[in-house]
Parts: sequence; C-alpha cells; structure tokens
Amino acid sequence: MRALILSDIHANLEALQAVLAAAEGQWDEIWNLGDLVGYGASPNQVIEIIRPLETLVVRGNHDRVCCGLTSPNTFNPTARTAANWTRTQLSPENLAWLREMAQGPIHPMLPGVNCVHGSPLDEDSYILTMRDAWAPLQQMSTPITFFGHTHIQGGFSQKDHDWHELRPHNHPANGREAGSFAGDPDLPVSYTVTLSPGTRHLLNPGSVGQPRDRDWRAAFAIFNSEPETDEGQTITFHRVPYDLVASQGRILMAGLPERLAARLREGR
Ligand code: ZN
Repeated sequence: MRALILSDIHANLEALQAVLAAAEGQWDEIWNLGDLVGYGASPNQVIEIIRPLETLVVRGNHDRVCCGLTSPNTFNPTARTAANWTRTQLSPENLAWLREMAQGPIHPMLPGVNCVHGSPLDEDSYILTMRDAWAPLQQMSTPITFFGHTHIQGGFSQKDHDWHELRPHNHPANGREAGSFAGDPDLPVSYTVTLSPGTRHLLNPGSVGQPRDRDWRAAFAIFNSEPETDEGQTITFHRVPYDLVASQGRILMAGLPERLAARLREGR
C-alpha cells in the first residue's frame, strides 16, 4: 500500500495541482494531515479537489479557526486576517465539511501507523527539534506517526539510545549543502529513507502550500508499506516546483496581506 501524505496545503491551488501531477500513479490512498485552508487564496478549490480523493483527513488549527470552531485571537495579525477572509469565502458546504473534520491521532487502515496535525500528544504542539520530539517518540501508540504543522520536511527517529533528526532537503544526495542551494532549486527532487523495523519515527511530509524550510518548492511524501525489497517500509520525500507567480497573484488580487505572497518565494 502506498499513501500519498499531504499536509499544510493552505489554500494554495497551484502547489496542490503540481503535487498531484507529480505523484500521479504512485499512490493508493491520500492521508491528509490538516491545514487545507488559511493563508492562501483558493480555499474552496483546494477543498473541492481533496474531498473526493482522500481517505483520511486530520483537522489542523487553521481548519478549526477558518470554520469558526475556535477564535482567531491566538493567531498573529497576518494569519488572523487570512482566517477571517477565508471564512467569508468558504461555501456553506465546505464550511460544514471543515467543521466535521476529526481531531488526530487518526489510525489509517494499516497497523503501526498514526496521523496527526501537530503532535501525537497535542494537536496544536509544534515538533521542531529533537527536544520537542522526545516525549512523543516515547509515548506514541504506534512505531510511525506522520505529523505536519511546522511546514518543515523531515522528522525524527529513535531506536533505544540511538536517535537522530532527518533533514531530507539538506541531504547531500539532493545536491545541496545545509541551508544553501547548491543544486538547481527549480527542479524536482526526491529522497528515499528506509524505515528499519524496531525504530520509532515521527515523519513530516513538509508543507504543500507554504514551505518554511527555505525551499520554495511544494513538499509531499509517499509512504510505501510493502516495498519490493525486504529491507523495510520506505518514505520518499519529494519537492516539486509549481506556478508560484500565479499563486502569489491570487493572494494579492484577493486583498490578502502582501507578506503571504512574498513568503512563498522565500520558503519561510
Ligand atoms: Zn499549517
């Protein structure tokens, strides 16, 4: 079984289209880790593409705020402006669908795997460092948890006293030094990791619609639970370019804060 894992699409239609085109024919199910809306200018279009496709969806904090389940007062002014705008744009059907989204953790129909938005312990927590990952790695109910919320592709793994951080976007195989673009930043790139049995993993596919790891390309991952080799399950992290200018133009034309358009190119 191959799952296309998407997170933090944030109403970026062009990024979602590029991801679905790049992943075509490579997945059996879609697992969505939340934040379909907020920030970007295409909330209805994104929901209407995703709704018929996905088998599993976890609610994100922006989904909750944009449909009015929680107050936008905890958001910074830019995020709050975008959430209020999104709420005025959403169709009644899409608003109702957002309100029904389930809180993580959610188990797919596959043993040993869990899906959350923030952390397995708290849907709103950010797992940015090994320190943040430590308690969830010990306490999560399955060996593998897929998470989003940070908009940073990669993750954390632990086997007994051996633990490390995964940063595929800085991996030398991708032709880049840590923090800099040594390869061509405008081409697609992918990086596969074998998930050895007996190891616990927290894995983040990255953000489709608003990456924050200084790489503007849309991020996603494909989890393969039955690879052809016997070595173990695999996750392949992908980055694909998309029509950034069109996405930025929609944000500006909608009257959303300019910063939301500028940050897409900066990847942060
Ligand atoms: Zn998000």
